[in-house]
Amino acid sequence: MLPFAEALQRIVESATRLGSERIELGLGVGRVLAEDLMARSPLPGFDYSAMDGYAVARSAFAGEGPWPLPVRGESRAGALAAPLVVGSACRIFTGAPIPEGADAVVMQEDVTRDGDHARFAAIPTLGAHIRRRGEDLPEGAIALARGTRLSPFHIGLGAAVDRNELLVARRPRVTILCTGEELRSPGSTPTPGTIPDSNGPSLAALVAAAGAIPTLAPRTGDTLEATEAALRGALRGCDLLLTVGGVSVGEHDLVRAALSRVGAELEFWKVQIRPGKPLAFGRHGETFILGLPGNPVSAQLTFALFGMPLLRAMQGDRAPIPARGRARLRSELRQKPGRMGFYRAQLQRDWAITAENQASGSAVSLAQADALLILPADSEGLAAGESVEFIRLAEL
Ligand code: AMP
Ligand code: MG
Repeated sequence: MLPFAEALQRIVESATRLGSERIELGLGVGRVLAEDLMARSPLPGFDYSAMDGYAVARSAFAGEGPWPLPVRGESRAGALAAPLVVGSACRIFTGAPIPEGADAVVMQEDVTRDGDHARFAAIPTLGAHIRRRGEDLPEGAIALARGTRLSPFHIGLGAAVDRNELLVARRPRVTILCTGEELRSPGSTPTPGTIPDSNGPSLAALVAAAGAIPTLAPRTGDTLEATEAALRGALRGCDLLLTVGGVSVGEHDLVRAALSRVGAELEFWKVQIRPGKPLAFGRHGETFILGLPGNPVSAQLTFALFGMPLLRAMQGDRAPIPARGRARLRSELRQKPGRMGFYRAQLQRDWAITAENQASGSAVSLAQADALLILPADSEGLAAGESVEFIRLAEL
């Protein structure tokens, strides 16, 4: 059985980069940049005023104050400014170019207007309220580095450096194959012994959140022949195949046998974690395969822990593994040593409140959790008040 960190590292390191494609800037959120986005011109592109007020030259402030200066001209946002008339103040607005010859802006709140004169009570400091050309990014600097997973703020910066297109990694195509005679579509008529397939929709949503394209394959029953045929169909045209269920050691757990019959090669199939011990990882040609346990909490958590980083690494994401935080345990958390434990919890400020029901069957506690608390495999637990590591589910 592989330790968690080693399994994760092997998965992320073996991920092959997909190709790239050019997309509209506005569609970039959640995608991974496949180029260094350079500032082709300085940002900002010209000196401009950060305030409504008056552009002045400090050389006009001679002798004792206050200094009444005649107001000559105006600089508005979106237009070229005429040079400053020597000895005068130029009316200026936020975002407007600084007139040539001005070296400071005095905000209008600090100026007394008296007819066509403006009276200044103090000498402004050099460069006051002037945003300089290139002060945010010099020409040629990298605005966004390759491997950046794009947020709405990155889109803003991309627009600020005058792009309307981005080169991003192609979206991985992910097929999800759920196994089990008992499964039916959510909302369909119940028959005795059947349950709604809850993993399919959840995994599809996680896949989409990782920037990939999910496809739900037709579900398959629990015979070797049916599973093999379903695998052959599902393997076509995808970058990652997720199988769900049938991967442990029960008599009806046929997925591993069927995978080997279709020629897939498994790298490993057990990881030292709780919940979710059976997890198969392998490949078939260019297609990666993750075999997830069927139990909904195990399936969704193991995909969150291993599948999300894999999909991110396939897109060239520089940070495919989610950052961990720390919180204080509200109450004691115990475990039997041997496997790394992931515990559903809610976060309140810097406190972690462990869900009462940690049963691997409790979909409710997973839906209500903000985070997974992590106990190392050799840990027997932590006392109330002790610091515990967590992964925030919203940051997967
Ligand atoms: P398995 O790994 O196939 O032995 O399944 C373990 C448990 O998870 C069983 O109780 C299954 O009924 C349940 N299960 C398997 N697949 C799903 C699914 N897609 N949605 C909901 N429950 C499932
Ligand atoms: Mg099953």
